[in-house]
Amino acid sequence: MSDIAERRESWRTKAREVAKNVVAPRAAEIDTEGEFAWDLAEAYSKHGFLSLLIPKEYGGMDADVTSFCLVAEEIANVCASSSLLVIVQAVGTMPVVLGGTSGLKERVLPRLAKEKGLICFCLTEPDSGSDAASVHTKAVLQGDHYVINGRKCFITNGGVADFYTVFATTNPDKRIEGITGFVVEKGTPGLSVGKTEEKMGIRGSNTTEVILEDVKVPVAQRLGDEGAGWWLMMRTLNRSRPAIGAQAVGLAQGALDYLIQFAKGKGLGEGKGDSLGVRFKLADMAVEVEAARALVYKAAEMMDEKVKGTPVQMFSAMSKYFASDVAMKVTTEAVQILQWQGLTKKHPLERMMRDAKVIQIFEGTNQIQRMVVAHTLLKSK
Ligand SMILES: Cc1cc2nc3c(=O)[nH]c(=O)nc-3n(C[C@H](O)[C@H](O)[C@H](O)COP(=O)(O)OP(=O)(O)OC[C@H]3O[C@@H](n4cnc5c(N)ncnc54)[C@H](O)[C@@H]3O)c2cc1C
Repeated sequence: MSDIAERRESWRTKAREVAKNVVAPRAAEIDTEGEFAWDLAEAYSKHGFLSLLIPKEYGGMDADVTSFCLVAEEIANVCASSSLLVIVQAVGTMPVVLGGTSGLKERVLPRLAKEKGLICFCLTEPDSGSDAASVHTKAVLQGDHYVINGRKCFITNGGVADFYTVFATTNPDKRIEGITGFVVEKGTPGLSVGKTEEKMGIRGSNTTEVILEDVKVPVAQRLGDEGAGWWLMMRTLNRSRPAIGAQAVGLAQGALDYLIQFAKGKGLGEGKGDSLGVRFKLADMAVEVEAARALVYKAAEMMDEKVKGTPVQMFSAMSKYFASDVAMKVTTEAVQILQWQGLTKKHPLERMMRDAKVIQIFEGTNQIQRMVVAHTLLKSK
């Protein structure tokens, strides 16, 4: 095995152990309570899952995108909510890694890597979701600082973060060329947390409004140049969408594994009576999960190999929407096969089905991913 393959395998093994021993026993409770699991955040931090994409020089794990996906998949196999914590930490971090000055990185990244700090990614607004280019949050330069005003919504970890990666417009007329990223620290005057969303799925993940009222942010906390925000966002999403795909694959695999055990226990796999229908469904589910996994790791590999000219953005979008559509289908079928039992909390399948629905929506809806794919196809030769 090559060094890279060994390193990836060790991330998978570690994540599988943590998932089995630490996360799985908490999964149902996290869903029922709908509360942020601080104990899991602590465990992830200890194992390096919250600093996967942070470079070594800042105390991080310097892992590649494939390893990041493996960790997301293993945890989602038992609890999709808890897997999102790992992913969002990386999503909030990447713009800092890619666009922060060395001084800003030295200030922020070691706190995330070594001091259990959390970060979130604030893009969506009440009137700007899929059409991210139309953000209304404004950042106005006044001397050596910016004044930021706006309202973000549906922000994962909004109520628990120590740092906020915020996207605002510094020039609304320029649309995407006017979007600029900033890091805002918790406790900065004018930064506050609004309502916490009560969601149908991914309930263990904290989702809130984030309000910015005359928030003064030093120029040194700007990410890259003015107007560089859109590209920082896109480069971040290229890395995180395969991880969301991996989260969906883990979730779908978890549902399939559970269904197989159930089917064996009930004799549904024995070829009797109506079991042929179940067998065909199991076969189709297994094929679809494997196909989704192959696409996710192809997209991750493309990111890791960094070969110029490869359509990483398209594969990243494909992996997110295909895998989450598979997760939706597999969990829905699994609930159907268990019939009334599938609807009860005695089995984890109804939770998994609710979680799958949410994955189709966040990190860019599956409709938007299809648009990215079609756009790339149509502009290629
Ligand atoms: C649990 C959860 C966590 C989230 N976490 C974060 C976070 O941490 N940070 C963050 O910034 N955001 C976050 N979001 C927001 C998420 O990314 C947005 O919900 C998503 O991008 C869609 O935006 P919207 O809800 O405003 O829907 P809209 O953009 O209003 O879209 C509504 C519907 O129209 C469809 N649609 C829109 N435009 C088109 C089009 N051009 N063509 C075809 N169909 C279209 C969409 O697919 C959707 O079905 C989160 C959302 C959820 C549910």
